[in-house]
Order: sequence, then structure tokens, then C-alpha cells
Amino acid sequence: MHVVLVEWRQLYYYPMSLSLFSKGRVLMADDLVYRCGACTACCKTHEVFEIEKPAGAWCPHCDVGVGCRVYETRPAGCREFQCEWIKSGFGERPDHTHAVLDFITEGAFDQLLMIFEAEEGALCGVYVGAVREQCLCANIPVCYVYLHGVRELFLPNQFVLTDELREQVTQEGIRVCEI
Ligand code: SF4
Ligand code: SF4
Repeated sequence: MHVVLVEWRQLYYYPMSLSLFSKGRVLMADDLVYRCGACTACCKTHEVFEIEKPAGAWCPHCDVGVGCRVYETRPAGCREFQCEWIKSGFGERPDHTHAVLDFITEGAFDQLLMIFEAEEGALCGVYVGAVREQCLCANIPVCYVYLHGVRELFLPNQFVLTDELREQVTQEGIRVCEI
């Protein structure tokens, strides 16, 4: 995937997303550790430059729902990437929702939530809709990335898209959507 507006492998901690309370109890340190477990969603959604794996297709090294067959020697891009659920506990584990979330803080936007589709139709579902609304209410733009590569940008009500930004978005082939 070619993304000029945003880099998709940047790490970002999103403090608003992390509630310190869960069902009436204070979370302990171990509660805050998220592991991929059986999730392999980003092995489908994301491009891996080093092995020329395109976005939106399963990596040939992936044992779907199990893990990476070349884990010890996996490319640096794979080692570095963490979805938002892993980084901050935001949202739900991507193999359950079929959507990989990633907050971006560098690029044309101060903050942007990327939502990558891991299974066709996931971006039209209730979960993704709720995440999108939550972000737009917090004045954070949201970008959907469909499996077939189409990207759609949703902007908060108060967000002003400057001419420069609009031109950049257009050049990138990103569709700006009205809600
Ligand atoms: S999408 Fe997140 S939880 Fe799933 S394998 Fe990738 S980094 Fe791990
Ligand atoms: S090399 Fe391993 S971690 Fe990287 S995309 Fe392929 S299966 Fe996933």
C-alpha cells in the first residue's frame, strides 16, 4: 500500500482510549498487556515491503488464526507494527472484528484513525461505525482502507479541510465522504 498522507507503521499511544477501570475494578499492570494470540489480521491487511506482500492478501508465511511460520526471522516491518488494540487496548482484537485500527499522529493530519478491512463487509458493520463515531466526536478524522484498496476519509463536523490538504487527498485518490 502506498500511503503518503500517513505512515502506517508508526507507533502511537492514545491515552483517551485506555480506561483504567473495568467492570468496577482498577486494572492491574498485567491487564494492560495485549497479545496477538490467534489474531493474524494484519498479516492480511497490511503490505510488507520486504517480502513484497501486497495489502489485502494473506501473507504466504501466515498460518491463518495461528501465527507466523517464520516468526523468528519475520521482516522488520512485521516486528515493528502494532495495531491500536495491541498498543493501547483501543477497540477489540482485530480477528474478532475483522478490522485493524491504527492511530496515526504524523503526516498531513495531526491525528488520524486508520481502519483496515480484514474481511469484506467489516467496514460497514456496527463495530466500525461506533468506532468511527467515537473518533469523529473527539474531532479525529477517520480513514477506511478497504481490502480492494479504496480509501475513504471521514471528517469531523468542525474539521476544516484546507485547499492544500484537499489537493493532497485528491492526489492520493482518497474519497472524502459526507456522513
Ligand atoms: S492486528 Fe494487532 S492483534 Fe492482530 S496480529 Fe496484528 S498486531 Fe497482533
Ligand atoms: S512474515 Fe509473518 S508476521 Fe509478517 S506478514 Fe507474513 S505471516 Fe505475518
